[in-house]
Amino acid sequence: MTEQLYYQNVYLRECTAMVRTCYKEKDRYAAVLDRTVFYPEGGGQPYDTGTLGDAKVLEVHKKDGEIVHYLDRPLEEGKEVTAEINWERRFDLMQQHSGEHMVSGIVHEKYGYDNVGFHMGSDVITIDFNGILTEEQLGEVENLVNQKVWENRNVEITYPSEEELRTLPYRSKKELTGEIRIVNIPETDLCACCGLHVTHTGEVGMVKLLSVQKFRQGVRVEMICGNRVLSYLNEINTQNKEISVLLSAHPAKTAAAVKRLWEENFQNKGKVISLEERVFQNEAESLKGAGNTLIWEEGLESDSVRKLTDAVMHTCQGLCAVFSEQKDGSFKYAVGEEGGDLRTFIKEMNQALQGKGGGKPFFAQGFVQASKEEIEEFFRKLSPTVCGSKK
Ligand SMILES: [Zn+2]
Repeated sequence: MTEQLYYQNVYLRECTAMVRTCYKEKDRYAAVLDRTVFYPEGGGQPYDTGTLGDAKVLEVHKKDGEIVHYLDRPLEEGKEVTAEINWERRFDLMQQHSGEHMVSGIVHEKYGYDNVGFHMGSDVITIDFNGILTEEQLGEVENLVNQKVWENRNVEITYPSEEELRTLPYRSKKELTGEIRIVNIPETDLCACCGLHVTHTGEVGMVKLLSVQKFRQGVRVEMICGNRVLSYLNEINTQNKEISVLLSAHPAKTAAAVKRLWEENFQNKGKVISLEERVFQNEAESLKGAGNTLIWEEGLESDSVRKLTDAVMHTCQGLCAVFSEQKDGSFKYAVGEEGGDLRTFIKEMNQALQGKGGGKPFFAQGFVQASKEEIEEFFRKLSPTVCGSKK
């Protein structure tokens, strides 16, 4: 069995070790050492990465009781190598893991809920609890957890006897047998865990609970700790500064400024719609009795294309077709004729102009992937009155 140096000292970043075995497995190499600083995936904590001599350590897993380091190149058996972990990654994982214990312990103590699912992602940590927490309660938990962080409590690791364990109110996801490792964060959490933790809670730095949402019978909480809080703060701060400059609003009042902008936009949209309707009515008036009519527009929404067609078809006494060119060069269209039956016509048009769409016998709407010339060519046989902005 490989000597697990990380259990003796979690701050050990490197060691020398002897390569006991090394073999090829699929497209990579697997090495077992006499001792290691590399933590294999376990207890919800991801594996360490780093280097073994010249080889990159890609993953580390426990397999048949051995700690197997998966490498990008082979190592000579019997040779001594230097093992070095990616400390930044490890310390980040220790911060997240200890923070997660503290949150779970406090939620358990305060609300009696169990942590029933836990995932340490590369962005956020998620914890699933088997009970409901409100945003307000989440805020209380966050305050309590951070107080415990700043009290800089010692994190104690113990291996109690079976008798001691019977009276110990520790958290555990499953029934455990054999030697049990207990992680004790005084007045905060007591939990059976094989993962690696900071030795003082102050090293967690800060715990930020990002969100809570209903999940199965309880809730899922998203959280980050330590350096991830700083990165998050930087990202959000940069975003907010940009919004603040764009809206000439104080950084603490950007939400109110966005709300005002949204309301303005909503009102303007209403004005645009009523102006558009007046323009369409005028156009319909001017095309009274014009017969078959082909109208060119640019950038109109489907709804406006429909409204314009509807207005003109009631006055022109023929077929009315509106084509509005879109940014990608395609055209949105609507074709209508009061009391008409356009089904065959639309079918032929869609075929000729690579279009899609349909509707009622007297009215159809869709789009075509054709040029203005091709559309004009198709409509030439109807000899329509041609009007609109793109004559
Ligand atoms: Zn744990």
